[in-house]
Amino acid sequence: MSDDPAAASTGARPGVEDLVAGIRAGRRAAMARAITLVESAHPRRRSEARELLTRLGEDPASGVHSPAVRVGVSGVPGVGKSTFIESLGSMLTAAGHRVGVLAVDPSSVRTGGSVLGDKTRMAQLSADPRAYIRPSPSAGTLGGVARATAQAMTVLEAAGYDVVLVETVGVGQSEITVAGMVDTFLFLTLARTGDQLQGIKKGILEIADVVAVNKADPADPARELEARGAARELAGALRLVRGMDEWAPPVVTCSGLHGAGVEDLWGQVMRHREHLGDTGLARKRAEQQLDFTWALVRDELDQRLRHSPSVRAIREEVRSAVLGGDLAASLAADRILAAYDAGPAEA
Ligand code: GDP
Repeated sequence: MSDDPAAASTGARPGVEDLVAGIRAGRRAAMARAITLVESAHPRRRSEARELLTRLGEDPASGVHSPAVRVGVSGVPGVGKSTFIESLGSMLTAAGHRVGVLAVDPSSVRTGGSVLGDKTRMAQLSADPRAYIRPSPSAGTLGGVARATAQAMTVLEAAGYDVVLVETVGVGQSEITVAGMVDTFLFLTLARTGDQLQGIKKGILEIADVVAVNKADPADPARELEARGAARELAGALRLVRGMDEWAPPVVTCSGLHGAGVEDLWGQVMRHREHLGDTGLARKRAEQQLDFTWALVRDELDQRLRHSPSVRAIREEVRSAVLGGDLAASLAADRILAAYDAGPAEA
């Protein structure tokens, strides 16, 4: 079967072999289909996805090229992430890189809607043949979304993308999750965020490798000055939080909208990478793989729980008993687990 887009309209799905060939040839249609496959929660498609990822892992080119640069980009909605990624991504593609942009958006998990990755954003980069943008998968749990994103990263890298930017919004667990799948974690913030430092959770300062105060527009000297002041303040706070670390996260200013400071910021990302070195990077990735292993296990267990017929059989009964106040949560949980343990794994 060919990797012809027409194949999709006939409803036929190319086999894993065809997908692998299409991805290695860098065909966008094959990449899109492969990413849809790794996002799928369907048990049969998940086993196909595993086969695909295994085949991609046997990439004959692996070990020949240096590993792709994986960077997380985080910050609250409105901080300017997509504008910044557009600017950085365009700079990188102009320099000959191939740039993939993925997203982990926890709001898409809850609502099916998405804060990140809608089509109107990053218009220039979307049209760039050297870039590939994929919005956040919206199905399932944060764990499921993270798994799909990490696996989409494998697909992009096998297709020859040498820079992968993973965007996430500044809300708790999703940042920790993204930090666990990238080499360098970049945190974007603003000068005027009310209670400057209180507004920034301590947790983010613990995981950030590079910090940038954004919207320091060169055409607006007052704003730029304010951003520099905020950067100094943040650098001080970081020294307190990270005093013992070998890596002192640099704090810079930039303006994604005007492209100012973006090149310097990328220089800091590269500097962090040099700091890790080949062995440090390999160790970091190996540790991430171990964490990812357990995340996969948790995700798989979650899927099995959702699909378990014996759990389904008692779900409504347990639900009304708990809602009616007739069954305590801990007992209800025991009943669900007992039903799961007693039942067959899948429908
Ligand atoms: P995101 O929600 O973090 O992805 O933020 P967006 O990139 O969508 O930007 C939010 C708003 O801030 C938009 O109106 C942008 O035009 C604006 N913006 C983004 N970057 C800059 C910047 O560097 N300077 C200024 N002045 N505005 C910016």
